[in-house]
Parts: sequence; C-alpha cells; structure tokens
Amino acid sequence: MAESHNTKNEGNDHVQLTAQCLCKAHSFTATVPRTALPLQACACHCTSCRHMLGAMYSTDTLWPGDPAVIRHCSTLKTYRFSDRLQVLFCSTCSSPLFWDFPAGARDGHDGKAAEPAGADKSQYGVFTGALLSSIKNPGPGPLIELAEHIVLDDTMDGGLSPILRRPNDTVHAKRQPATRWAGRQLLSKEIPEGEDHWPEPPAADWRNSEVREIPLWCHCRGVNLVYRCQEAYREHAAMDADKLPDTVDPLTRKTVVETDACTFCRTSCGTDFMHWTFSALRHLRYAHEDAKTHQQHQKDPEASTAGAFSLPATLLDLYAAVTAPREDRDPRLGTLAVYCSSEGRKRYFCSNCSACVFFASDANHDVIHVAMGLLDSPDGARAEGSFGWLLGGRVQEKDDIKGTWRETWLDSHETESEAWRKARKFPEWWKIMGWG
Ligand SMILES: [Zn+2]
Ligand SMILES: [Zn+2]
Ligand SMILES: [Zn+2]
Repeated sequence: MAESHNTKNEGNDHVQLTAQCLCKAHSFTATVPRTALPLQACACHCTSCRHMLGAMYSTDTLWPGDPAVIRHCSTLKTYRFSDRLQVLFCSTCSSPLFWDFPAGARDGHDGKAAEPAGADKSQYGVFTGALLSSIKNPGPGPLIELAEHIVLDDTMDGGLSPILRRPNDTVHAKRQPATRWAGRQLLSKEIPEGEDHWPEPPAADWRNSEVREIPLWCHCRGVNLVYRCQEAYREHAAMDADKLPDTVDPLTRKTVVETDACTFCRTSCGTDFMHWTFSALRHLRYAHEDAKTHQQHQKDPEASTAGAFSLPATLLDLYAAVTAPREDRDPRLGTLAVYCSSEGRKRYFCSNCSACVFFASDANHDVIHVAMGLLDSPDGARAEGSFGWLLGGRVQEKDDIKGTWRETWLDSHETESEAWRKARKFPEWWKIMGWG
C-alpha cells in the first residue's frame, strides 16, 4: 500500500493524485504527466451503481497508478458487482475506492465478461469522490473532465444529468458539454442537447402521487427496507407550518433532498456530490415482518401486524441494534453496519456491497439522513412525486475544494440547477425555508 506523504502538485511536468478512504487506512498515489491531463471521467446513472453507492450516480476515471499496488493490497474488501466488475472498498469506513475490470472493458457496467475481474490484466477505475482535493486544476480547465453521462434510461427521469450538462465550464473557458447516452456510450442512443426523451416528472403535489411506499435497498439487498412516504406526507400535511421540521417544504409538504459536497459524504459514497433526504425512523420499516409475527400469521392470517415491521424507534436504539452481538441482532438488519466518522456522527453502510445507507447526528432524536440513491421509486431516480429537490441556491461553502475540478463541477451544478428551477417555475426555496 502506497502511503501518501506529498499531496502537492509535483513540479512542472507531473501532478500527483491520492485516493484515500475516510478512515485513512487506505491511501494510494499516482503520478500523472501534465500532457495526459485533463483526465476523463464517466458518470454512470445505472440502477446498480445508484444502489451500490447510495449516490445518484457513480463517477470514475482510469487510475493512472501502478495496478499491481492495488492488486496486491490484501486489506481492501471486494464486492462482485457483476460478471466482469468488482468494487474494492474499505471494510472499516466503507469508502469505495476502485472498480476492478478486465483490460479494455471500461465501457459501461453491464454485459458478459470477456475475462473475469480480478484477473492479472485487471485495470482500475478510481471513484473520483475518493480523490483528495489537494490537487488544483492545472490550467484554465478542470483536472478531471466529466466527459459523459451513461445509462440514463435506467433513471426514467434523467436523474441528475439535467444539472450537469456543462460540468467542465469555467469562467475562463467554455468546454464541450458532457455527452449523454441512453445506455452504454457508443452502444446506445446518444441524447442530443435539448432532446430529453424521458417524461416530465409527475405533479409536484403529493396528493396526486400514487406512490405509498418506496423500497430502499442496497445493491446486494443485504439492506432491505421501505420508506413509508405517504405516512410521512400525511403527518406533515396535518401539521401547522411553524411546527414542521426544517427538512419539509412548507408549500408542498414534501421532504426535501439536499446536495452535500463535504469531504466526509463524498468520500464515503465515492461520488463528488452526495444527495440526502431525511426521515423519521417511524417512517421507515423493514421489508419483512418479524419472526414472531410471521409464526402467528402461519396459524392465524388475521393476526395483528402492529409494530411487526418497525425499525428501532430512536437513533440511540438503532445504533444499539446495529452494534449488538450477532446472537442478539435482529436478522432483518442484514448487512447494515456503522462507522463513527467523527464525534457524534455515524455513517451507516452495507458491509457487503459498500452502499451508504444513512447518516445520523447525535444531535437528532429520531430523524436520519437517507441516501437518495437507494430509493427505488416507480416515478424515477429523483422520485419527485415524493420529494422536493432544493434546486438553485448555494450548495455550501467551497473553501476546501477551491481551485479543484470539484469546484468547477459544483459551480456548474449550482448554475444549471438554478436555471432549471426557474424553467420549472419552482420558488426560491431557501427564502421559504429560511436556509439563508
Ligand atoms: Zn477506510
Ligand atoms: Zn453503472
Ligand atoms: Zn449491500
């Protein structure tokens, strides 16, 4: 394992990249000649990537470092994602670091293996969210260009591609827009500028939504839960506006979705921007009833199911349940594990496939951040029938990403989402919600 001691730009001819997990147990460096810049990244919006990371898409670029260093690192955990792809992640903090794919196969995440992952000729793609922000853009353009969006048909609504069309533009230079593909690049229909072929999302008013519950699962299904969206709407609709939680839009009574580009979130999900929604634990449930109720149902199909699907009621109870000894654990918690990323902050993830599931702050009693990428809503990846996306406005302070490709992408994310907000006649949510 290569330890990073130097994260500065290397001389004039080369720059050094560092991929590092959240707990810092894993750190890999690579040196890239400036002539090879910018690196090209691909954003995959496929259902599998969203459920494997918990993010709205995955972004990776070919790792320019020595593949043998990764191949011989025995402490990275491996998840077999498909016939030909593996994901390598940290088993302590769950940060995904690398895709492992057979040579020449980096063209989408589906299909049959020509040669299995893990073979000697493996190449590696690095999740761009795992790269340290210490490398500045080398010139007028970003160090990493987000070149294409792929497998957009899986999203049904375009996912977040409408706000990352020109992610590489800077105040100094207009770049090529990112290309967009219905499926894999070059093997599917390219979606030209202005020709979005997915339907407009359903009405903004939740009362028109027929979605009562939304499955919430990770790629391996070791985490298998359900978000009870209609239960949440009903509760919020009945409340006085001044009593609503600050995570609920007072106009639509929908729970909001926020964009987070902080170091902790992007490292733990492997994608430069994480998107979270919020839920009280009572609005989540297990996909299956508990064993005792199941037995009662065998004898009496009419037996009460009250509480039979309930998660632990508070964040303290959830933490105790997840960290309980195996023999005391509710088997329905499945592969859910937890990592304390800092004092009072807990990140729940799938220990098998690495997916980010929840983020919890000890300051809250029973409200938890929920990874949007895990929701499987019938109206599309953004699930706009049930959630209010906070489009436009400022995402966050950009001090720790100043001068990096992340700042370039985030600037575009903000500019394009503000334009999209106006085009769709959404109000200025930050004024309504008093967020600044
Ligand atoms: Zn780690
Ligand atoms: Zn994918
Ligand atoms: Zn999983």
